[in-house]
Amino acid sequence: MFRYLLFTISFLTIPEECDYSSKEQEVAPIQTTSTALIKEDFFLNVTQYTDRLEFEGIDNSPAIHEGIDFINENRRIDDVPVYSVLAGKVVYVRKGCPEEHPFTRNNLLRECGSGWGNHVVIDHGQFFTRYAHLRPNTISVSTGEQLTKGNKIALMGNSGRSNKRHLHFEVGLKDIPFNSCDVAQSFDSVTDPKIFGF
Ligand SMILES: [Zn+2]
Repeated sequence: MFRYLLFTISFLTIPEECDYSSKEQEVAPIQTTSTALIKEDFFLNVTQYTDRLEFEGIDNSPAIHEGIDFINENRRIDDVPVYSVLAGKVVYVRKGCPEEHPFTRNNLLRECGSGWGNHVVIDHGQFFTRYAHLRPNTISVSTGEQLTKGNKIALMGNSGRSNKRHLHFEVGLKDIPFNSCDVAQSFDSVTDPKIFGF
């Protein structure tokens, strides 16, 4: 019996899970645009914003702007929470990217997190969402954590390749699982979040 147990344990592969913290400035491939047919009841109030910049891209080509920017330039509001748009599992957390100032061009390690800065990726089963440029030291979720729709995950920030406080929000597909212990990773393709009501 003991021998059998040892045999079984040695063949169990437990995937390593990390919250990846680094000041690297890496490069992830540009993501391709695709129109995925996803019908879900999203939490559309992903964050509060004063302005937005739309997704840009045509099918089967590298996206020009890989998500929607929700920009908040209201200086009277210090903390702008960011929420998970659906239930899902956190599969990637990037921390360690600095931010110079919330409302001016970030000049500190702009390519940290491959330009996404501090960010979180959530697996919703059929697809993923990414929340980028989060304020340093405000990510309140960890890799492996199961979230419900509308869970607060962090505060909006200006880390990475960012010029003012905003949330860059992506919806994407990826075949190979995220390696949570490595540098930032691209989706295989991204879809315009606007088609889901954002
Ligand atoms: Zn953006």
